[in-house]
Amino acid sequence: MSTQMIAVHLPDGAIREVPAGTTPLEIANSISPRLAAVCVAARLKPLAIPQPLECDCCCQKEADDQPAEAEMYAAGDAAAPRLVDLNMPLTADTRLELLTEKDPEALKVLRHSAAHVLATAVLELFPETKLGHGPATDAGFFYDFHHEKPFTPEDLPLIEAKMAEIIARDEKFVQESAPRDKSLEGFERDGEFMKAYFVNKFTVPGDEISFYRNGNFTDFCRGPHLPSTGRVKAVKITNLAGAYWLGDEKNPQLQRVYGTAFFSKKDLDAHFARLEEAAKRDHRLLGKQLDLFSIQELAGPGLIFWHPKGALIRKVMEDWMRAECLRRDYQLVYTPHVARVNLWQTSGHEGFYAQNMFTPMELDDALYRMKPMNCPFHILIYKNSPKSYRDLPVRYAELGNVYRYERSGTMHGLLRVRGFTQDDAHIFCTPAQIENEVVACIDFAEAVLHTFGFKEFKVELSTWDPSDRAHYAGSDENWELATGSLRKALERKGIAYKTIPGEAAFYGPKIDIKLVDVLGRLWQLSTVQFDFNLPARFELEYVGEDGERHQPVMVHRALFGSVERFFGVLIEHYAGAFPLWLAPVQVGLVPISERHHEHAKKIEAELKAAGLRVEVDDRNEKMNGKIRDFANQKTPYILVFGDKEQEANAVSVRTRGKGDQGSMPLASFIAKAQALVKSQSTEL
Ligand SMILES: [Zn+2]
Ligand SMILES: [Zn+2]
Repeated sequence: MSTQMIAVHLPDGAIREVPAGTTPLEIANSISPRLAAVCVAARLKPLAIPQPLECDCCCQKEADDQPAEAEMYAAGDAAAPRLVDLNMPLTADTRLELLTEKDPEALKVLRHSAAHVLATAVLELFPETKLGHGPATDAGFFYDFHHEKPFTPEDLPLIEAKMAEIIARDEKFVQESAPRDKSLEGFERDGEFMKAYFVNKFTVPGDEISFYRNGNFTDFCRGPHLPSTGRVKAVKITNLAGAYWLGDEKNPQLQRVYGTAFFSKKDLDAHFARLEEAAKRDHRLLGKQLDLFSIQELAGPGLIFWHPKGALIRKVMEDWMRAECLRRDYQLVYTPHVARVNLWQTSGHEGFYAQNMFTPMELDDALYRMKPMNCPFHILIYKNSPKSYRDLPVRYAELGNVYRYERSGTMHGLLRVRGFTQDDAHIFCTPAQIENEVVACIDFAEAVLHTFGFKEFKVELSTWDPSDRAHYAGSDENWELATGSLRKALERKGIAYKTIPGEAAFYGPKIDIKLVDVLGRLWQLSTVQFDFNLPARFELEYVGEDGERHQPVMVHRALFGSVERFFGVLIEHYAGAFPLWLAPVQVGLVPISERHHEHAKKIEAELKAAGLRVEVDDRNEKMNGKIRDFANQKTPYILVFGDKEQEANAVSVRTRGKGDQGSMPLASFIAKAQALVKSQSTEL
């Protein structure tokens, strides 16, 4: 009798021939017991899928509280890579990756395992509780419970203490399976209405369904899990919220208990320190403190009022952007905020984008809509006169206000709004010009990020899924050419990127650039997006060298993305302490007493003449109070002067973050400040 052998391909290229039934843990042990000790789970990839060639950097999506439920229960696609338990027997040839604690997906396995520990604790403390589900989220995990008497915040420390006991018991997570119909009967009999719902929704009669057991606790779940509860090293319950089952207020009320978990106490502490730092940098808070912007109840949510100081920063951002556009051979245009519905029908927005637009307004001649995008307007300018290949590329840029419908209650400060300004440009070019245009767009995006003080960014290339031909506009040839040009442009720039297959819009592939802020958070801002759809819908043309009519290629690109959002990110990145060139008030003047007010006016005039933004505090207040007020406004420089300074035409300089720098001739201060503004320095 011979045991069937299977081939397990490891990431270093080695292939192990092992008997069928061998587990990933056994393979880890055969490599090194030290490796086995830090392994969390395993990733299996079918041999048919080619290995990705480019960088596999980890890019977080925006915080996601609602992971796909199906992921937790439904049997996975056998052809897709999947995570499995370390003690899952391997039955066929496969590619195997052992996940250690460093793998970002390992954290999800840990957090979901922590959710099982949470449910175990709740059932031990409150046995009559009915269970919902407990997925991992980007920030941690939660579990939904139904308990007649709602939990209170006082219950949370009890639950957390019980979780610590369960972790100390180091119970193994064991996968079991049972006939679906018998399990369903059991759930229904026990009043486990939520579990019964999930079984009904994600399995079909006749299935064997998967359970995970630790100690006496069992949960309907497809896994994977850590080997045992003891591997949940650092866990914290964070809060409690009420929610109706399936979001319907006629249904029973659930308690959602939130928590987070990490592989070490150090990581957990760092997480909370980061949250605290992020809270201090919250742009909504700083926007109020520094009087930068507001959102007015009377006007409506998601509409931004730029106060003078915020408006000044915006002006500097916009001036820089317009000047750069001109330097890079863009042409500036302005277009209206509304247009007839006919235009949106021609562009197709009236169909695929209608749910994101403000509802139409009826005027005497037609229905009109606020614009959600600038593209059709730039296209109309392009179309207004015949174009020859000699005119291309045509690059139109606009800081265009657009309006998009977001449900009330979903808005968030400057980050999620109903009205915003895109630094939008559309490039019309010949296929041969694409690659150079994309390189130029990436150069421009890098210039934006570096100028505004960001050092790091991540790049994603979204491509199509050629097997799903029906969902994409444009010919195969176009897709090959455009995707190839984006790749070549990134390679020419030597930029590492991650390819996301099947994530392209139906009308073309794109590059997304996400910047990394001072807290390490990722922000999606710049996009370079191809479009095969609009040039066809608007029948755009140019006359080629051959004298024939051709369709130009069109690229949409935005670098700030939205001026509002970029401003929000800037506020948080700098915690409101803007570099000198962006600061709304660059210099605060503090005359020591009333008899120096006259001199203050003279200094003010001189600084203004030198192009600096200055504010005098000539209230009859104590000097220290005035200095404190400027410091609270995060003013980069505070100049103090009395008799001594006046006589010497000098100023005593207080620099933000550095304190009292002593006395300096006024002319020297001006020269220094001018140089810092000119170089857009982040130093003072
Ligand atoms: Zn589970
Ligand atoms: Zn566009």
